[in-house]
Amino acid sequence: MKLRFFSKTLFKILRNEMAPKKRFMSGFECKNNEITSDIVIQVIGTGASGTSKSLTVLTNHRNYLFNCGEGTTRLLKEHGIGDVNDCFITHPSLNNTSGLPGIRNLTLHGPPKIRNLFTFVFTKGSSTKINVCDDFSTVIQDGDFRIESVPIIAKKNVLSRSVNEETSNLSFPSSKNKKKKGGITVEEKMDVRDISLAYICVPSTLSEIGKCGDVKSGEVFIVIECPTEDFLDSLLETETFSKFQLSNNNPKEMLSLMVHLTPTDVFNHWKYKDWMSRFPSETKHMIVNESCPGLANEAVYRLQYKLNCIDPEVFPLLKTDFELPQSCVDSRNVILAEPLLRYFIRPKSGCDRSKIVKLEPDKYLNEVANIPGWQKNYLSLKTSVAERETSVESDTDYPQVIFLGTGSYLSTVMRNVCCILLKINKDKCMILDCGEGSYGQILRYFGSQETAKILINLTAIFISHLHFDHFGGLVKILHERQKIMEQTDPFERPLFLLAPPHIDKYLKLHDNISPINLISNFQLCYGQRQMMNNQYQTILHHSDLLDICTVKVKHNIIAFGVVLTLKDGQKLVYTGDTTPCDDLIEIGKNCNLLIHEATMCDFETQPSHAKYHSTVSQAIEMGRRMDVEFTMLTHFGTQHGPVPIFSDDCLNVGVAFDNMMVPLSRLHLTSAFTPVFELLFRDYDKTL
Ligand SMILES: [Zn+2]
Ligand SMILES: [Zn+2]
Repeated sequence: MKLRFFSKTLFKILRNEMAPKKRFMSGFECKNNEITSDIVIQVIGTGASGTSKSLTVLTNHRNYLFNCGEGTTRLLKEHGIGDVNDCFITHPSLNNTSGLPGIRNLTLHGPPKIRNLFTFVFTKGSSTKINVCDDFSTVIQDGDFRIESVPIIAKKNVLSRSVNEETSNLSFPSSKNKKKKGGITVEEKMDVRDISLAYICVPSTLSEIGKCGDVKSGEVFIVIECPTEDFLDSLLETETFSKFQLSNNNPKEMLSLMVHLTPTDVFNHWKYKDWMSRFPSETKHMIVNESCPGLANEAVYRLQYKLNCIDPEVFPLLKTDFELPQSCVDSRNVILAEPLLRYFIRPKSGCDRSKIVKLEPDKYLNEVANIPGWQKNYLSLKTSVAERETSVESDTDYPQVIFLGTGSYLSTVMRNVCCILLKINKDKCMILDCGEGSYGQILRYFGSQETAKILINLTAIFISHLHFDHFGGLVKILHERQKIMEQTDPFERPLFLLAPPHIDKYLKLHDNISPINLISNFQLCYGQRQMMNNQYQTILHHSDLLDICTVKVKHNIIAFGVVLTLKDGQKLVYTGDTTPCDDLIEIGKNCNLLIHEATMCDFETQPSHAKYHSTVSQAIEMGRRMDVEFTMLTHFGTQHGPVPIFSDDCLNVGVAFDNMMVPLSRLHLTSAFTPVFELLFRDYDKTL
């Protein structure tokens, strides 16, 4: 009872803070004769495992986005959705926001203090400009829509969430009163994550542009997320929705569509069902959550079908066997989201399935077969590989290096940002950097069952530096691993995070991460390791490695490379981001594999980032000076086009692609692929 009273008081306080005031979205207005004739809601991420829950709303004038989790911007690029003007965050969870660093010039709307969630992200190497509107105004308006945000508030967490120093910038006082709790006076604080916003979107009509007049019946839609059961009471108490619901008579206003970003367990809760049943049968409900199919990155599959023609072992076909939890669909007016499913609000309301993503393997293979000269080049590749095969001494399956992200800065359709998986042996693996979208890459490469094994077998994650293209996917991987461990493995398997020390500030912003063994990259530098002898030995033992050594490299922020020595003495060096670095040469001398960044192409005359990245030639030269057996180039900037260019007399240099697996014993063969890559991607659109 007390809690109920408290929540109501709190709600009033919040309402007062949000005194109704009209604000304009990104300053866009239009005149009567420019009213949008089309309004279409399009699913981008369905919320299935490996995707996030996001929608676009497209009008004749502008693109609006609801939520921007991992991989959203990559999908927007793939499906040709241009600049997004306004982004509305329903609940400020990682799943809804971790793709934001990939978007420029955007007005972000969300709960109060939402800006503080991103301080870390945007101050570390991101040039994203985001104009945050988080003042909780109830009505925002432009020429296309009037959008009302309705807060739904978690009750349980208001008192129970402990507010520590690191997360306190996400909190704000909810009341001037102080409450006694267990004899101790506790200052009550709200956390930004205790608020979820529902958005009531009212399209402008001819008569109402510029003023909040009557609504055209049947065109209104709502986007809502009730993240956990803690939010249910607040949802049921919120009166704003009642005008769309059945009471004694018909609803006052007709709602066309309600988009539910609510997870399955909450959606199936009797309170939520009860609330939904209050809407008339004419109102459609679209579900966007983990129960939906999630195959959205057609371009990634298509690319892999083509690369698979070169070598099926190095480029295995990607998996589509994602497990779907129980479905929420049990009634005719409920629609399950699919990637690129569209729902028209205007000109005529209804679903459009014409753009739903599906794979067409025959078409992709035909495209390859029809490349002029393909057959001839393919045969000469096979001859060349056969010649090199004989010169390779051993042919063991492990260790394997799997490149899961080979791009830099922002993911493109072709290359996700950095991620390398090192399978040390069949039971141990390690991740070297993991930019945004890495978990999705892992899932597509391995399928759901094998992904679970990979996460369980993960012994260490190395983060070279705190640029978002190197660590933006870390929390997602940690969360997913934690879920798997809770389900399948009652015995704790330690995971070591080798990273710059201030990463803990970032991790503390995301609660629900179980304690992690964080080892500073400084401590693993040559000469420092004795200081932490026991822990150092534990990592080595646990990961089946003979040695791990980090080395400070030359980048525009503190950054490290890493040298890993396997039990059989083979040595692998990963540079992270750096200009040519002498310390790395010394420590990585005579290694078997050097994975070197090659962000810039040689013909970039005045690259703005020349001071902290390497060109292809510089990377190859580093390999020569280190006397390496093989150099694999990665971390390509978009200037390169699909295949970086270098002299074809470099027999021990290869080009990494996403979803490329090479056992250390077969590395030499991959350099023979380069001319075939060039043929395969001859007509590839560089802007993708
Ligand atoms: Zn980078
Ligand atoms: Zn960097």
